[in-house]
Amino acid sequence: MELGFLGGFKLTFEHLGRRRVTRQYPDEKKPKQPRQHGRHVLNRYEDGMEKCIGCELCAGVCPADCIYVRGHDNPPEHPVSPGERYGYVYEINYLRCIHCDLCVEACPTEAITESKLFEFSFTNRADAIYTRDELLVGDDGRPRRLPWEDWREGDDLHTSGWMRATSPSGAAAFEGEVQWSGELGYGVRVPEGGQSGRRDDEATGTRLLREVMEAHLVPDDIPFEHRGMRGRMERAKESAVKKRARVLAARRRRAELKVDQ
Ligand code: SF4
Ligand code: SF4
Repeated sequence: MELGFLGGFKLTFEHLGRRRVTRQYPDEKKPKQPRQHGRHVLNRYEDGMEKCIGCELCAGVCPADCIYVRGHDNPPEHPVSPGERYGYVYEINYLRCIHCDLCVEACPTEAITESKLFEFSFTNRADAIYTRDELLVGDDGRPRRLPWEDWREGDDLHTSGWMRATSPSGAAAFEGEVQWSGELGYGVRVPEGGQSGRRDDEATGTRLLREVMEAHLVPDDIPFEHRGMRGRMERAKESAVKKRARVLAARRRRAELKVDQ
């Protein structure tokens, strides 16, 4: 009898005992990196003053021509920003934005940065044009959550998550030095590590690429302690923790829905 067709099952059986790489999106998401390019925010200083000075550099540098800014003189009695001027009109058209972050790079005051939120969509063009009111962080320094956005835990953490390189031009003298201003609600971020061992991944929220990608690595590239029975037990523990978190998140969402109704 011809049993060659059984060879067709080889691949299936080979993968039966392997770690599952499918994620239950959107309940379960991959961890986002601190420099994730998502929806923009306009930041405030720790005293609540707006960082934007209406200089229009971001609009000038934007390759997609999607930013519109108009500056205005600060009212002497009630200044909005510490500079002479502030951005009184600020719009970003998300039908055009390619999230290149050149605007973030160009901004002299770190007013415009990006959150980690990329799960947002609209059903009309007007909603796709975010205005100053929508982009500006609230009185607590947190981004506004608009009805068509899917914010999850951590998406708004350190909204100035995109940051300038800690070591400008690669100069070792600047490594480990904070290179950006304080942020309302978050204070001053810890300095991001450079090429040397002076990095604090836990504080900056950076996860090693190997850790995030392990499920996709060839066996030789997987750290020794993660292989074999010990690795399997670790993974089982990890997936139990994730499953529990998923269940709790689903319960929380159901409870929130009930409150909204
Ligand atoms: S991320 Fe790039 S495309 Fe989007 S607004 Fe900024 S400069 Fe323009
Ligand atoms: S966001 Fe920055 S670059 Fe753009 S107008 Fe405001 S201060 Fe200038």
